[in-house]
Amino acid sequence: MAKIIRSKSAKKTGVSPVPKKPAKKAVKAAPKNSAKSKSSKPRPWTAAEVHEAFSRFRKANPEPKGELEHLNPYTLLVAVVLSAQATDAGVNKATRPLFAVADTPQKMLDLGEEKVREYIKTIGLYRNKAKNVIALSEKLIAEFGGEVPRTRAEIETLPGAGRKTANVVLNMAYGEHTMAVDTHVFRVGNRTGLAPGNTPLEVELGLEKVIPPEFMLHAHHWLILHGRYTCLARKPRCEVCLINDLCRWPEKTV
Ligand code: SF4
Repeated sequence: MAKIIRSKSAKKTGVSPVPKKPAKKAVKAAPKNSAKSKSSKPRPWTAAEVHEAFSRFRKANPEPKGELEHLNPYTLLVAVVLSAQATDAGVNKATRPLFAVADTPQKMLDLGEEKVREYIKTIGLYRNKAKNVIALSEKLIAEFGGEVPRTRAEIETLPGAGRKTANVVLNMAYGEHTMAVDTHVFRVGNRTGLAPGNTPLEVELGLEKVIPPEFMLHAHHWLILHGRYTCLARKPRCEVCLINDLCRWPEKTV
């Protein structure tokens, strides 16, 4: 049984914060856009620049950890399903006692929807989520031998689980090189010019294309952390940004 992962500092990201004083290595930076206009198309990153950026992320935080507490792939799946439009801290508060009594699909079914609802009633959309937790547990037992499947297509057939959920589970539970795109990754992918896209799927595929395999296991967490703690939505902290010399955003403040 896997060890529960806990951290006091992170809030909503699902990951722990980046250390404050990362080392920065000189790299040939891309020229800044001459016109600071939102509409100008950023020049694509070179392979060397992408490698340099992720080398810096790795050096600053070699083993980024997920924040959602879980005991095994099944409880991770349930936690991710419960985390939609909720904070990780809020989910953890509810799942600690829930997983203590139900850490397998069968135990969850034995508990029953009504009691599951009671455990998770502090989480938004809890009625629907309780239904999904029971339904996905039934399906896991009926179709997957009680185990969380190892393919995105199969995970996506589970009630309450979409592509992002599947990518998180495949990455965190099974070490697959998937890229779950949440609001932070979407913003960072677009702003930096690493993987511009109009939809999460476009950004996901773009990131998978440019990020070298050696970084893909942790790339999702590094980018979430970057968006959460540095490249903030309203007021990005460009002055302390690890990759401010590489970033293509015309409005960066350095
Ligand atoms: S330089 Fe600013 S906009 Fe660019 S990635 Fe860093 S924080 Fe974000």
